[in-house]
Amino acid sequence: MLSTLFATAQSDIPDNYFAPPLDIELLLSGTFGELRSNHFHAGLDIKTKGSTGLAVKASAEGYIGRIKIQHGGYGKALYIYHPNGYQTIYAHLDNFSPKIETLVKKAQYQKESYEIQLFPSKSDIVIEQNEIIGYSGNSGSSGGPHLHFEIRDYESKPMNPFLFGFESIKDSKPPQIFALHAYPLTNNSHINGHTDRVQLKLIRRKDGSYRTDPIKAFGKIGFGIDAHDVLDLAYNKNGVYSVKTELNGKPVFNSTFDKFSFYETRYINRLIDYEYYKTNKRRIHKLFLEEDNPLSLYKDVYNEGVVEIKENYLNQNFEIQVSDFKGNTQTIHIPIEPDTRSIAEAKKAKETEYFVKKNAASVFEKDKIDIYIPKNAVYEDMYLDIKIEGLNVDLHKETTPLHKSITIGFDVSEYSTADQSQLYIAKVAPWGSKYYVSTYRKRDRLTTKVNQFGTYQLFEDKTPPSIAPKNFRDKQWMSNFRYLKLEIDDEETGINSYRATVNGEFILMEYDYKTKTLTHDFNDGVVTDTKNQLKVVVTDKVGNAATFEAEFSRKN
Ligand SMILES: [Zn+2]
Repeated sequence: MLSTLFATAQSDIPDNYFAPPLDIELLLSGTFGELRSNHFHAGLDIKTKGSTGLAVKASAEGYIGRIKIQHGGYGKALYIYHPNGYQTIYAHLDNFSPKIETLVKKAQYQKESYEIQLFPSKSDIVIEQNEIIGYSGNSGSSGGPHLHFEIRDYESKPMNPFLFGFESIKDSKPPQIFALHAYPLTNNSHINGHTDRVQLKLIRRKDGSYRTDPIKAFGKIGFGIDAHDVLDLAYNKNGVYSVKTELNGKPVFNSTFDKFSFYETRYINRLIDYEYYKTNKRRIHKLFLEEDNPLSLYKDVYNEGVVEIKENYLNQNFEIQVSDFKGNTQTIHIPIEPDTRSIAEAKKAKETEYFVKKNAASVFEKDKIDIYIPKNAVYEDMYLDIKIEGLNVDLHKETTPLHKSITIGFDVSEYSTADQSQLYIAKVAPWGSKYYVSTYRKRDRLTTKVNQFGTYQLFEDKTPPSIAPKNFRDKQWMSNFRYLKLEIDDEETGINSYRATVNGEFILMEYDYKTKTLTHDFNDGVVTDTKNQLKVVVTDKVGNAATFEAEFSRKN
């Protein structure tokens, strides 16, 4: 079993070319290809015992070709370029090894910015295999301390790290099936008398596999599973590696997570049942392909994975095999019998004045709002349900996926110029919470680009951010302090910028949005005077500014 799985690996890279990036036993909280919001997970999430500061080691020799530091995303991340054209990536780090840290700080002080991106040249930072390059952390969009580790091939496509060994990861259990669903796919097809998705009850058999009761079906139908894999020694629910289906012993469908391109990752909205996900917060992996699904992870798919049941098709046997990388497989048997009843179906899309074609751009305008939908923003032709009232737009349904961003424009000429500057566009959730969306201003017009349907509305933000000291008081002696910490927050639109100076000189502050904390490290060596005037200016996303000033002293 294993040998056939490994056969898909790039043959030019020897097994174990890449060494584990941590010294501890590798336990995972995320696997390659795992289904996430609008993307597939591009690497392994390695657990770091719930804390930060574990030494992170270069997986193979090479040089640091890219350093990226951002508030969100990968946080502090290092990219090692290897002689074979591959890259390894280490993300959410706490800090870097001294030779990298020195280069980073220099660039940050030069640019006067915590967020930076550097592309050092080949000879700048040469790295040996197993050399310590940094320490694990929780920086960026990380839900807890861990190391995100990624391998990209010479075309910068992320690959499943399991293809390169890492055999020490223990997995003796097959994937777990949470639910099985069946879909009638055309107007005249039906399953157990239903013309819409039906969940099928799973019955455990003595050998550990599952079966369903025989289903009665007619016409073109498909299946979908909600499954995850659990490794040994950790409770985390990870992604499954491969799903295959067969009809009467003949292969129908196969999706396998070996590698993908970043340009295709948003097509995850086509792989999952998006409406079900938006409604139930669970992802059903569809085992059939609809229009506009070019994902490269599908192999050997016949008839789009669709099964057709005709009147005389007795005793059909459909089988689903869900596997993890080690080849542990869970199997589901689904007996299918033809159902010759004709069942009236009532699903017809509501016709509206807003029809969008997948292959053409559409523009809609009404009162003070205009909407631009580019070509290929929707996955199929459809009627949109749009309600416009003043400066509020209900733009179709949140349960319909968008592949590309659409532009919404608001005519705000009824506001004075001063008031206009504090206006912003927010997405209003069905439960009433509002979320700022990037708002662009041009004369009497505000626009935003959004990649989800839903309700969008104008609001005003007149409240500047708040700034408060976190580990000191005004006029305090801070001789023995390593860090200077402040808490910054903005309730309406969020933090746009922050800048701190001591005695008029820029000091670097690291911003962690998760803890709302700005941190200066006195080891940077830029605060050298005894008496110091600290000034911090913070702005929100409409430009409201707040200033904080304090005095502190340090013996040098
Ligand atoms: Zn990750």
